[in-house]
Amino acid sequence: MPDHTSAHLLDKLVKHNRLKSSEWASLIENEADLYDLARKMAQEIALQNFERKIFYRGIIEFTNFCQNDCLYCGLRKSNHDLKRYRLTKDEIIECGKLGYEFGIKTFVLQGGEDLGFSDDKLIEVILDLKSIFDDVQITLSVGERSFYTYQRFFEAGARRYLLRHETADFTHYAKLHPEAQPFWHRITCLYNLKKIGFQTGCGMMIGSPNQTTSSLVQDLCFIQDFKPEMLGMGPFLPHHSTPFKTQPSGSARQTLYILALVRLMAPKILLPATTALKTLLPNGYAEGILSGCNVIMPNISPDWAKPNYELYNGKLVNDLAQSISKIRAELKTINYQLVSAKGDFQG
Ligand code: SAM
Ligand code: SF4
Repeated sequence: MPDHTSAHLLDKLVKHNRLKSSEWASLIENEADLYDLARKMAQEIALQNFERKIFYRGIIEFTNFCQNDCLYCGLRKSNHDLKRYRLTKDEIIECGKLGYEFGIKTFVLQGGEDLGFSDDKLIEVILDLKSIFDDVQITLSVGERSFYTYQRFFEAGARRYLLRHETADFTHYAKLHPEAQPFWHRITCLYNLKKIGFQTGCGMMIGSPNQTTSSLVQDLCFIQDFKPEMLGMGPFLPHHSTPFKTQPSGSARQTLYILALVRLMAPKILLPATTALKTLLPNGYAEGILSGCNVIMPNISPDWAKPNYELYNGKLVNDLAQSISKIRAELKTINYQLVSAKGDFQG
């Protein structure tokens, strides 16, 4: 049975949607006792808010060029083993058409920080997608940009932006990134996105090298203050051509536990069961949903590009028809279903 005091913290979290640092630490340290209870409560809250419906978003990985050098990521500029590509506007629109045929109503344009893909070009892509598909939402995930650039993206019609904070512990942040990528800049970007009016997503990897309980506590405190509309969180997985190639993967169990805590903290947040979790755990989508997740993000990039967008070892590569039918089958085992809807945050 869970220890009374820590179990009481789960109720407190549901009631107040926030905790003190020491209370978060206690929840993290008592995972063994609270794992089942936290997940059961999280699933219940997700059911109250989203029923048995799971939103699906199509990710278009439109460029794997990146000027940055995050130590964990296979797209980092120092990885010279990677074949780099950049999709044309027409190729991106084709991805959209394919996704739309499968009922996808949110396109997530994701890429490295690629100076070769200009803001003007990305704005043209957003405008074209919005004019071809009048009932879709555009999410961007293209890293750190100026306030002015974010504003231009918003004016072109993008309404959601994913920018994981990666870790809210600045000493940890400095161990995951080179000096040229300071913590304060990423956090400033997140606040700029919110200010402009984007539904904003932050998030972190679970088990990234040098992560401690204290870093996770800082993450959870950051999230409860920042109040993101979306949260992207999956396990860290090593990539063979990065400085972290020999580091162990994050734990699926801890990922599922922290996902559940996030759902308890933010009942309406858009919370994906990530591809990284699915890579680590064969039934990772279903398990994520049983921790309160309500979003899945299939890859709608061209099949030839998928193997080159390798963030970590073993990233899954399926064609879209195959992945959607596998997702449906996995969801059926827990009696959930995909719904074709924009799925905006309803605060
Ligand atoms: N370049 C943009 C950015 O950094 O925000 C968007 C693309 S980036 C590849 C998306 C996310 O992938 C990052 O925020 C990071 O958390 C995640 N990621 C990168 N390398 C990873 C790894 N080795 N294991 C798990 N997730 C990883
Ligand atoms: Fe580039 Fe994003 Fe990978 Fe960092 S995480 S190297 S910014 S693609």
